[in-house]
Amino acid sequence: MQSDTSWDSGEEPPSCRSSDSLKQFRSAGRGFWSQVSLSDWNDWHWQLTHRITTLEQLERLMPTLTPEEHAGTQLANHKLALAITPYFFNLIDPADENCPIRRQVIPRLEETHTAPWEMADPCGEDAHSPVPGLVHRYPDRVLFLVTDRCAAYCRYCTRSRLVSNASGYDFHPRFDDQIAYIQNNKSIRDVLLSGGDPLLLSDEKLEHLLSRLRAIPHVEFLRIGTRIPVFLPQRITPELCAMLKRYHPLFLSIHSNHPRELTTEARDALGRLADAGVPLGNQSVLLRHVNDDAAVMKAHLQKLLLCRVKPYYIYQCDLIAGSAHLRASVRKGIEIMESLRGHTTGYAVPTYVIDAPGGGGKVPVSPEYVLSRNADRVIIRNYEGKIFEYPEAADGTPLFRAPKEIEEPALA
Ligand code: SF4
Repeated sequence: MQSDTSWDSGEEPPSCRSSDSLKQFRSAGRGFWSQVSLSDWNDWHWQLTHRITTLEQLERLMPTLTPEEHAGTQLANHKLALAITPYFFNLIDPADENCPIRRQVIPRLEETHTAPWEMADPCGEDAHSPVPGLVHRYPDRVLFLVTDRCAAYCRYCTRSRLVSNASGYDFHPRFDDQIAYIQNNKSIRDVLLSGGDPLLLSDEKLEHLLSRLRAIPHVEFLRIGTRIPVFLPQRITPELCAMLKRYHPLFLSIHSNHPRELTTEARDALGRLADAGVPLGNQSVLLRHVNDDAAVMKAHLQKLLLCRVKPYYIYQCDLIAGSAHLRASVRKGIEIMESLRGHTTGYAVPTYVIDAPGGGGKVPVSPEYVLSRNADRVIIRNYEGKIFEYPEAADGTPLFRAPKEIEEPALA
């Protein structure tokens, strides 16, 4: 296990650490809020009440705000609100304009630049919504949106049309109608609660929903998508974990993008969930100058395993309006996947996917490992570029004679 250190000690700034150093667990500390009592600091309601939500607060805490960030923050409340918990704010390196934490949560003027191929609803969710707050795109599972609020707002959010309600979407889930739809559709065996962030609901409200869903005989599997362990680990209380434990099988997908987000506080929160028997997966979004670097991504994925979280997906950033400055290329994504498979523990290797623009669902994208297939063999390459053959008839039946001498295909 890595050692725990703190960022309060005037050590090496977070932005220039080696990947080994990135895997160390550090506390976010109280930083700017050192005068606040520990009990307040560790209270998730205190954290929510004291979020940074205005340009004035941001300028006071971060005098190094760039003109682009200043202008972006002025406009943010017309598109996607600004909100950052004090805990998460402490992870920002104010001296680094390109700080990977800063890029994710501080608005920039570029958010107002929209290309013709960018969309407000890039996954086509509204077109697959039979009742408000429910998305039914795949036959056996539904997305159940419970709220439009998050602890902090990610500048590349694929649901920025509705989260924070800055652009007037006026999201009003209708829990009774959502549950009735699931009850009446026996093909639905998997319900993913998302939003916004479901863990912002009180324990009582969340339990009310989980118990009603658990009471539907054909619902086998419940999932919660949340960024709370990263933005607000104080919310993962023993009481919440004890409540979640009553609704197994219940999985949790967290959303972490960079190893610095995995602090001692986040690790301990994830440990409490794991101890409650909640299987944990992570979804990262591939982001320009955040995690589009093979060493940073590998450190992040390995660190997730140290937190008992299985890396599940890396998403190509959706074509959300105003996100071009944050989108890394698909080429870069494939290059990163190439640097992972075979080079680290298989458990650390997620699936890289593009959510097909307009609502086509997740399409896995990976480096090419099958080089050719013919009548009696499949030609494959391994992570070192070495070529191998696997004897197999074209129709998949077993082969009883030795395949012909192999000619290696000409490879670029
Ligand atoms: S936590 Fe999730 S839903 Fe909320 S702003 Fe970030 S990406 Fe969007």
